Amino acid sequence: MAETETSSPAETEAVAARLGDELRPGDVVTVAGELGSGKTTFVRGACRSLGVTAPVTSPTFTIGHRYEGTVPVSHLDLYRFTGLSHAEWGDLEPYFDDAVAFVEWPEAGAGVLPAPRFRVHMRHSGSDQRAITIERADTRV
Ligand code: ADP
Ligand code: MG
Repeated sequence: MAETETSSPAETEAVAARLGDELRPGDVVTVAGELGSGKTTFVRGACRSLGVTAPVTSPTFTIGHRYEGTVPVSHLDLYRFTGLSHAEWGDLEPYFDDAVAFVEWPEAGAGVLPAPRFRVHMRHSGSDQRAITIERADTRV
């Protein structure tokens, strides 16, 4: 699993855009990493390559956003959750329906969310440097 280092938000968006080009409805991408590590920036870059023109902002204070790109795209943030109850999963499930779904702070959804196709992990490696790993989580071709 290769680690890529970026030196600006634009570089992180470009790395994400290359991943976005591979995605299709039904794919789940988890984006983990500490606060400010660039998760939302990464999702923004991937959304651009999926044709989303709307502003892509952090859904921290809502469960999620749904965007229309060349395909439907969902953006969830589970920051406020420690786990997911059956009822909470019921609220989230529609976001995964026929969409490419990005999930920030995915830890709370472990074992409940649909299996991701890619797992992205981000960390600070300098003031404007970020180390990004993208793990392909399945063998789908
Ligand atoms: P998170 O969603 O992980 O909390 P955000 O993407 O919202 O992170 O914020 C990342 C912050 O770090 C932004 O203010 C962004 O401009 C800044 N930043 C600086 N360098 C980078 C980089 N190389 N990649 C991504 N973001 C960066
Ligand atoms: Mg965020």
